[in-house]
Amino acid sequence: MDALVCTKCSKSYNLNEPIWRCPSCGGVLDLEFTPVFDRRKIQSRPPSLWRYREALPLASEANIVSFGEGFTPLLGVDFGGVQVLVKQDHLFQTGSYKDRGAALLISKAKELGVRTVVEDSSGNAGCAIAAYCARAGIACHIYVPESTSSGKLAQIHHYGATLHLVPGSREDTAAAVLKAAEEVYYASHSWNPFFFHGTKTFAFEVFEQLGWRAPDTLILPAGNGTLLLGAAIGFKELAEAGLTDRVPKIIAVQAVGCAPLATAFREGFSSPPVIQREDTLAEGIAIAEPVRGTQILRAVRNSGGAFLTVGEKEIEEALMESCRRGFYIEPTAAATVAGVRKYVQATADREVIVSVFTGHGLKSTEKMLRLIGS
Ligand SMILES: *Cc1c(COP(=O)(O)O)cnc(C)c1O
Ligand SMILES: [Zn+2]
Repeated sequence: MDALVCTKCSKSYNLNEPIWRCPSCGGVLDLEFTPVFDRRKIQSRPPSLWRYREALPLASEANIVSFGEGFTPLLGVDFGGVQVLVKQDHLFQTGSYKDRGAALLISKAKELGVRTVVEDSSGNAGCAIAAYCARAGIACHIYVPESTSSGKLAQIHHYGATLHLVPGSREDTAAAVLKAAEEVYYASHSWNPFFFHGTKTFAFEVFEQLGWRAPDTLILPAGNGTLLLGAAIGFKELAEAGLTDRVPKIIAVQAVGCAPLATAFREGFSSPPVIQREDTLAEGIAIAEPVRGTQILRAVRNSGGAFLTVGEKEIEEALMESCRRGFYIEPTAAATVAGVRKYVQATADREVIVSVFTGHGLKSTEKMLRLIGS
């Protein structure tokens, strides 16, 4: 039976309850769901992530909210003589892979009859949720710290979302949105399990684009793990459906300036320690307290993978190199590329490696300008 299941107290709930965390204990919810993959049907459909619709937890096709997203190109890029296949996930409607999560989550919100959602992100998740709400005709409220630079808010504002500037720290913003979420559906990219069942389409697409085979290695960013956990769910579902007998090893990348998960991995902890967060170019993955930290650590360990940390100089070099090759990505996306560069230097194996460009450089013009001449 499909259900929302609490990771803390194991209580389960109907998929049609408009909840985003356990009403009983406040724990993080996961989704228990049996996907169906019909290769002939899938291949006969247009190249969007909805070609896997029987593997997505939406009851009715009529509720799909879409810009025709997904099935992004998987391009070979040479890193020091090693071919790495890079998913071009900066090419979504709002400029980042967050559209994978927003497409399913906002479709589900529509199915639930939700009229208004709240979310807290000044970055790419806020943009994605705002755009899909605009497409669905759902009212959208985005909570951000008052100190957020105006450039980042323009996109969210122009989609017609209501911005709530919260005085104080990031934690004060989190408190404000939790208060609002008592009354209104919380379309959270870190809490809401439907978001992760959208990002899992990354795995399905890679699998199909490789000729219905799993790669050996995935190199992915780890902040809240919205792509990493999605990819892990996707490959687990493909394996459970009998389509592959192995799942890829996950190499998770964090910036040195904010690496609670890499620290926990190294120390053998099951959950991330409290850390002091420093400024980094990769601000989009600088998450000091990831809601699903324990899950991310478990996913990486179970895959036989590891964590890599990358410094500011390495991120900047990776950014410059990517742009010079024609891939205009944002600085946060370059952290993962820096991880790829580090990984291929250290490995001697001949393996099929897949990574990703997570966000478009046009979103970060202020930052890109500042890097000129630095
Ligand atoms: C969201 C995002 C990531 C990954 O962040 P998580 O916190 O792990 O979900 C990486 N790059 C970009 C550009 C992003 O927007
Ligand atoms: Zn619970």
